[in-house]
Amino acid sequence: ARLANQIAAGEVVERPASVIKELIENSLDAGATNVHIEVEKGGIKKIRISDNGCGIAKEELTLALSRHATSKIKDLSDLEAINSLGFRGEALASISSVARLTLTSKPKEQATAWQATAEGRDMEVSVKPAAHPDGTSIEVLDLFFNTPARRKFLRTEKTEFHHIDEVIRRIALARFDVSFTLTHNGKLIRQYRLATNQAQYAKRVAMVCGQKFIDNAIEVECQHDNMTLTGWLAKPSFARSQNDLCYSYVNSRMMRDKLINHAIRQAYADLLPHDAYPAFVLFLTLDHADVDVNVHPAKHEVRFHQSRYVHDFIFSVCQQALQSELT
Ligand code: ADP
Ligand code: MG
Repeated sequence: ARLANQIAAGEVVERPASVIKELIENSLDAGATNVHIEVEKGGIKKIRISDNGCGIAKEELTLALSRHATSKIKDLSDLEAINSLGFRGEALASISSVARLTLTSKPKEQATAWQATAEGRDMEVSVKPAAHPDGTSIEVLDLFFNTPARRKFLRTEKTEFHHIDEVIRRIALARFDVSFTLTHNGKLIRQYRLATNQAQYAKRVAMVCGQKFIDNAIEVECQHDNMTLTGWLAKPSFARSQNDLCYSYVNSRMMRDKLINHAIRQAYADLLPHDAYPAFVLFLTLDHADVDVNVHPAKHEVRFHQSRYVHDFIFSVCQQALQSELT
């Protein structure tokens, strides 16, 4: 069982940052409004994510650690209208096959918390009582301790931490309604507080992208048919030499989508030097039926059913916003 899970882990678990992404997504799927992320030594030594989500019942703990166990899809047709971030039931099994994973959880309805660990070649799960508030904590120690070849690919503590920070930025922009804290080696590095109005959203964006970005950004908000585009678009004068401030979301999921990027770039067309990148934080929302987000969950690509239409919408909203700035 461990070997099969390790092979699957090759796809999901590349480095500490990918572990953290999977675990935070689970917390969000569980409806958490507070997520604490603690890491030590770039996440290689320790990752601990605690949330105040719905928790996992004692009887479900063992299942949660086994492969292809997901509580999120009941039948195949659910795949079509999928709303949760995870649905393949692979993350926990994969992670626990390449690290020492401990799952501690307490659903509100349950009087006490329970803790589960999977160990050994057969990934035998042992469950014992524990102390924990409502919600779930997952601790991941010594990532890749049993797969030295993979461990070798890890970079310095600093680089790995940089990747973690970036993953959390992306998620923090997607979910203003959730607070996140990040500590590294016992030091508080990021604190994204709950944001519930436009001013607070802008404040969070400033924390993630820098005050300069917000000071130089045009606010966008446009609706057409069933599509909405909102967010911030940097003025052309705030051109970047890298594409390090390009955040686009489709129905709250972070995307790196060619069509979206193309539409935005085209809107900036003659306004930016050839070798410069625009900066933006943009949220596209449209009917779940009009978009296929499951093309590849790790690749951040989507398939729009009416791609030309979506492209032109994004292009014209951005172009108009940029033009209005010029006049
Ligand atoms: P998936 O997210 O694809 O369902 P995972 O391996 O990531 O698969 O998680 C397995 C299951 O464990 C989930 O379906 C969910 O029921 C449960 N789970 C994992 N993390 C949490 C959490 N933080 N809070 C509540 N339930 C969780
Ligand atoms: Mg998951």
